[in-house]
Amino acid sequence: MPELDTVEALQVEKLYRAGEVIMRQNEPGDCAYFVQSGLVEIVLQRPDGSEMEVGRRGPGTLIGEMAIVDDGPRSATVRALEDCRLLEISKADFSRAVKNANPIVGLVTKLILMRYRDILQRSENVREFAGVTTMLEQQERYHAEESRVLDAVRMANEFKVAVARQELFLEYQPFIEIDSGRIIGFEALMRWHHPVSGRMRPDLFIPMAEDTGLIIEATRWAFRESCKALKRMITQTGDSALFISVNFSAQDFDDPAFLDEMLFTLHDTGIHPSQIHLEITERLLLRQSEHVKKILLQCREHDMQIAIDDFGTGYSSLSYLHQYPVTTLKIDQSFVRNMTSDEGALGLVKSILSLSENMGLAIIAEGVETQQHVDMLKSLGCQVAQGFFFARPVSEHDAAGLLAAQPTTAP
Ligand code: C2E
Ligand code: MG
Ligand code: MG
Repeated sequence: MPELDTVEALQVEKLYRAGEVIMRQNEPGDCAYFVQSGLVEIVLQRPDGSEMEVGRRGPGTLIGEMAIVDDGPRSATVRALEDCRLLEISKADFSRAVKNANPIVGLVTKLILMRYRDILQRSENVREFAGVTTMLEQQERYHAEESRVLDAVRMANEFKVAVARQELFLEYQPFIEIDSGRIIGFEALMRWHHPVSGRMRPDLFIPMAEDTGLIIEATRWAFRESCKALKRMITQTGDSALFISVNFSAQDFDDPAFLDEMLFTLHDTGIHPSQIHLEITERLLLRQSEHVKKILLQCREHDMQIAIDDFGTGYSSLSYLHQYPVTTLKIDQSFVRNMTSDEGALGLVKSILSLSENMGLAIIAEGVETQQHVDMLKSLGCQVAQGFFFARPVSEHDAAGLLAAQPTTAP
């Protein structure tokens, strides 16, 4: 694991004096506690401020457990009846530990606890305090969430075998050097041919694969396939400068074997690390993790390129740009799409271009769909583009066709 050792993380001990409130009903909570010693009482508070005791817990029991699996408020107040020693289990550490243990255990745990919360909400004690509308709304919310989790569990189970059953495949979208019109590399994009639903878009399954940690195996597979495809493209064209860009998720960096695996695959497939672009998102860098920084630095030491995908979306802090060894910015397609009609989007594209120039970073414009986009990017000094105007993501066979159709020399 990266930043936190799980065992250590689960051992934050807290002391509460008799009479102290440990958690308060309706307040947000992000941790559960194991009662080590002492006794606590669990009370429900009525709107008029009066209280009703619903239980007591002693050593070896767990309290506040729902907070570590969902975002609901505390459903009761817990107070120390005697001096207590409690072990705190934070939501972040718990979910990390569960994810590491088994990818779908996390989802199932969440479901079980949601049901538990639902049953509790329905119980007569709670009905006494909650308005009927709130009750119904809450139940609807839980059922919607429950079916979402069930879908995710089902999909996770299917995705688990997708690599072994060869249901995953890659498509390749070229990067074009605007001046020459030549292909200089490809981005590998993952697709899943689901046995029942057919071809699935990555935005439907990647979030689930990330939530469950299953992305790690899928990325390993994608990386190896990409390297093998690149090798074949280089053999076909004789162009040893071609590169391949692979998308990575934050969870991939939690894999202790991340770098070793990658170096092994590169060696095994005969690809030089400089021909690899790692595409990561700003979100990953905003984790501010020393572990991620270390891995990225090691990738750079091996001469891999590091590109920020969808650059400019969602986050305003740019401080991470000089903290991490980034080499390339990929201007998000929303700015490129709108720059011909929207001054604001154009301003952003110009700012990103001058930022990249000032910081010595390479730039790629994503989502180039029209000749007008190409002309504008060219006039702004952007040299590399990707988008439907040049080519959609295609099979390796069709990518080879695109390479073969290129003139042997630049026009
Ligand atoms: P991305 O990495 O930013 O990939 C670009 C997406 O934009 C692709 O969608 C591509 O088909 C689409 N695109 C490219 N040019 C154009 C254009 O001119 N116009 C429009 N409208 N769209 C264009 P796709 O393949 O559906 O992938 C969506 C996202 O899923 C990717 O965004 C990436 O974040 C994620 N993804 C795809 N493959 C992988 C993978 O192997 N691993 C991980 N972790 N994520 C992946
Ligand atoms: Mg990408
Ligand atoms: Mg992108």
